[in-house]
Amino acid sequence: MMVCCCMQRVEYVSMSLSVYSVISIALLLAACASSQSAVPASVSAGQIAESSSSLAYFSAGALSSGVSGDEFVSPLSEAQRRVTKKPFGIHVSPSSSPVSPERFSGYHTGEDFETFPEEQDADVPVAAICSGTVRFTGWVKGYGGVLIQQCLYQNQPVTVLYGHLNTDSLPLRSGSGLMAGGHIGMLGKGYSTQTDGERKHLHLAVHKGAAINYRGYVPTAAALKGWINPFPSFASSDLPHM
Ligand SMILES: [Zn+2]
Repeated sequence: MMVCCCMQRVEYVSMSLSVYSVISIALLLAACASSQSAVPASVSAGQIAESSSSLAYFSAGALSSGVSGDEFVSPLSEAQRRVTKKPFGIHVSPSSSPVSPERFSGYHTGEDFETFPEEQDADVPVAAICSGTVRFTGWVKGYGGVLIQQCLYQNQPVTVLYGHLNTDSLPLRSGSGLMAGGHIGMLGKGYSTQTDGERKHLHLAVHKGAAINYRGYVPTAAALKGWINPFPSFASSDLPHM
């Protein structure tokens, strides 16, 4: 009889523990969910990776891709073939641009990835080139839809601007974690408000430091030092096979 009572008690304690565990896990998950949206935009990728609440968000992405903080992954398929008009640093003006009509002048702070004819009416997905926190999503004059992400590159903070996106296709908001290779959204429709009147393409710029800089062109070649040319930094797996 005594044994029976004890066993019942053990079962009761065991059951209570398991109920307690479930509640604890639920509370933990709720805390994680609430802290996810509370991540300050200025937090660096390294700090985010150390936060237990964000680890799950990051683990599903490209940690397995072998991408280090010293190289970027391609933002689009066949990225190398797409840089045909405005590479990083090119000087353009309305009279000398490879794009017509041209409304900008100056040295190009980013790299332009063009779209193929069959993609003009198709969804063209854009991927993150590095792992880090989303700092901004929204509409910016000259670009249309923009997402800006902060990453570490060669142990230094950089902000990556992805321009000419369809704002309706951006699932992430400021503070969200985003892994290298992770889905950002779709390119905006050419010559629409989604691209602020530009052709359908991706403008990709990597600015040094944590401060956001929206400039697509700068007036002097010296001012380009504030930006990094992303092209030679792409992972070797993205280079064309010889
Ligand atoms: Zn551009």
